[in-house]
Amino acid sequence: MVNTMQMELDTALAAVRAAARVTRAVQKALVTADSLQKKDKSPVTVADFASQAVICAALSQAMGDDPIVGEEDAAELRNSENDALCRRVVEHVGRIHPGVDRQQVLEWIDRGNADGSTQRFWTLDPIDGTKGFLRKEQYAIALALIENGQVVLGVLGCPNLAGGVLLSAVQGQGAKQHKLDADEMEGEPVAADEITDPAAARFCESVESRHSNQSQSARIAEALKITMPPLRMDSQAKYAAIARGEAQIYLRLPTSKDYREKIWDHAAGMMIVHEAGGTVSDADGKPLDFSCGRRLEQNRGIIATAGRIHEPVVRAVRQVLRART
Ligand code: AMP
Ligand code: MG
Repeated sequence: MVNTMQMELDTALAAVRAAARVTRAVQKALVTADSLQKKDKSPVTVADFASQAVICAALSQAMGDDPIVGEEDAAELRNSENDALCRRVVEHVGRIHPGVDRQQVLEWIDRGNADGSTQRFWTLDPIDGTKGFLRKEQYAIALALIENGQVVLGVLGCPNLAGGVLLSAVQGQGAKQHKLDADEMEGEPVAADEITDPAAARFCESVESRHSNQSQSARIAEALKITMPPLRMDSQAKYAAIARGEAQIYLRLPTSKDYREKIWDHAAGMMIVHEAGGTVSDADGKPLDFSCGRRLEQNRGIIATAGRIHEPVVRAVRQVLRART
């Protein structure tokens, strides 16, 4: 089958690989978890901005004017108070683009300002799982392409998963895994687990209890007779774990009724799980709706599973949420 998205895929893989070189360099320079806690968030901010600049530069070069819905923008960096921070961002981007100047870096970052209202656009989380990045645990670089409200391509860079992996998926073409360090574009297929009994599942959820309701997840696990403890990890590495067959359920139940999930936190991961044979829905079992701009306005919560167990998991979620009200 001809890969109609070959150019997009090659560009996205190269862009995320380049960004991962930068985020790894920043993360390596962080001293200890303790000293980080006391500081402001600047090391992370440097990596966020630099990663967004590198990816927006690559997309601009290869894809021209394709709009980009990115998590960050350069407003703070333009503030003279943040000159030192900005210099460090430029320095890190300079690893990939030697001699690049401040103006160019700021412009690249601001390429991420699109609102997601066009027929085709990219969405980018330059560092998903900031808290994990700070703890030197899991984080992800997430890039996806959306056309007519549907995700059609996703790439996830997971520098701290399995020695550093990239996962990719194009609609209808399966999901693949690539080594982050090698330059191979081909990748090898990955597939979600085929279990049919939810009791045998391992479920994953956020480390941060503010991001998903862990006590509800525990009740749902109990209802499903799951005995394995939850696998807690930051970022869309959770979607990667489902796609790689390491876990079978990812539960993200809302902690407040007002929170709306951001498209860049789910587009790439959803695509990869879907193409690996898994299923992703919101807490009601509805598909995620990527046609509403920067947020998933129509959805609450996320359930991702290895696929065959999706229905019973959704039923258990409903049952537990109903019992609460
Ligand atoms: P995780 O690594 O799974 O904890 O998810 C990290 C993402 O959670 C961040 O990128 C935020 O966009 C998102 N986030 C922030 N606040 C909330 C919230 N109250 N509920 C759900 N997600 C959130
Ligand atoms: Mg994020």
